[in-house]
Amino acid sequence: MIEAMNGKIGRGRRAAPALMTLVASIAAACACAPSGRSPAGRAAAPDVDGAIVLALATELAGPAYSGRALGSPGGALAAELLAGRLRDAGFAVAFKDFPERVPVNSGDALLETVAPDGTTLRFEWREDFREIARGGYEGGPAEGPLFLVSDPAAPFPPGSILLVRGRLYDVEDDASYAARGAAGLVCELVGTDPARRPLWAGQAPGELVEPKSGYVKLGVSAEAFDRLASSPPGTRLRIESPLRFVDATGRDVVAARDGDGGGAEPRLVVCAHYDHVGADRDGSYFPGALDNAAGAAMAVALGEALARALPGADLAVVLTDGEEVNLSGSTAFARAPDFPLAGIAVLNLDMLGSKADLPFSVYSLGDPAGSKLARSLVAALEAAGFRAAHEAPVRNLDHTPFSLAGAGAASITEYDTADYHTKRDLPSGLSADELDRLGDALAAWALAEISGR
Ligand SMILES: [Zn+2]
Repeated sequence: MIEAMNGKIGRGRRAAPALMTLVASIAAACACAPSGRSPAGRAAAPDVDGAIVLALATELAGPAYSGRALGSPGGALAAELLAGRLRDAGFAVAFKDFPERVPVNSGDALLETVAPDGTTLRFEWREDFREIARGGYEGGPAEGPLFLVSDPAAPFPPGSILLVRGRLYDVEDDASYAARGAAGLVCELVGTDPARRPLWAGQAPGELVEPKSGYVKLGVSAEAFDRLASSPPGTRLRIESPLRFVDATGRDVVAARDGDGGGAEPRLVVCAHYDHVGADRDGSYFPGALDNAAGAAMAVALGEALARALPGADLAVVLTDGEEVNLSGSTAFARAPDFPLAGIAVLNLDMLGSKADLPFSVYSLGDPAGSKLARSLVAALEAAGFRAAHEAPVRNLDHTPFSLAGAGAASITEYDTADYHTKRDLPSGLSADELDRLGDALAAWALAEISGR
């Protein structure tokens, strides 16, 4: 899921009442009853093994994949691994490449005050401060007098580094600050923290960011902001952002299965993004276990289960790249799909299987087909003992380009913000038991969807 700077859709972590947990576990136990052939002879719901999903998610979140950034060796390795699994399940797999321009942390990072008496005070990267992609400004060094902004319209000395409270900061003001001669901006992060890595520069999906230079941006924690704001008069700021925009090639993994021999025209596409936000310059990486190694692993497991249960059905699994950049892979695919999208169902999986006790959010654009699909997913999740609610319109997930291309599309998300886009998003935060119960519920739902109910 893409994070929007200072303000974000979705909700944070919430504790569930104990009774709800009890009801959920009883209902879930019922949903896990052993299955065989149904009396009508139709294939019974296939079984998804949560331990296998967790093992694949753990692999993807490991060091070999190094945060799975678009255009990186780790991203390419992840595409190969996932394609191999889907080929083994009988899918024809194609790599669909597309151009993108991505933020990479390749320069130095610095935030330092220089008091009039020459005393310097250094701040810590990822603890106190971080890069900001939003606005599309290239990083680099800047130095100037610190100017605490109390009114965005008020004048400041040219060459200043502006210090802006979160509630006063609007990304739309950057152009004006830069035009009035600010050398850079340090803003207080609200609802996010320096441990997170953002990629979205603010461009519309399908557009390449046009990087701007000469104005360097950093975000700081509230605590670091207070320290900066209490600097003595005459303090100068030295800042440097490592962020550079680099042209790269994204790679969607498109797996289709022509079950009836008449060409692959699936009624249902299972979709998940396999990319994440990459690594820092020191090589430490963002594992992205919940976001979205888990969803990609679940999409593969559903593809495998459905191929076993419905050998005569057309199926597709689309694993997108560049979701974290700008919904890039889903946008590229929807522009030139391998099969017709109008009227089909697209189930997008993004952040699933957290150990935290959270309800599922089912997101759609609020269009009739997407809403209908979302309601049926909510019902399936509730029947399996999960809490779930439909929220619309929500645009910052991969269902959006599919919906705009005429599919009924919805995303299922367990929006656990505790470790969102940080180096703490590890496989240890995932639950094999929940992935197992969720996989079985989604497989049963998908089977009914493909079979026409
Ligand atoms: Zn994300």
